[in-house]
Amino acid sequence: MPKSINLPCKTCRPHRSRPHTSLTAEQKDWLRKNTDVKYTDDWWKCAETGCLTARPYASEGKSVQFPPDIA
Ligand SMILES: [Zn+2]
Repeated sequence: MPKSINLPCKTCRPHRSRPHTSLTAEQKDWLRKNTDVKYTDDWWKCAETGCLTARPYASEGKSVQFPPDIA
């Protein structure tokens, strides 16, 4: 079972908490290769169906959109 916490999602509803899950190994890999993010263990991905948004725990402003094939 992936870990899950509630955080606001910029894409879904900015001011309402949504379930977010910890990143898969593939998602962490993509993040390191495609952004300047080095530390991925504090990143969480929105669990809403169809939502591709992930964010670091402490900063909603730094969210990214995963490509559909790894989200
Ligand atoms: Zn979302």
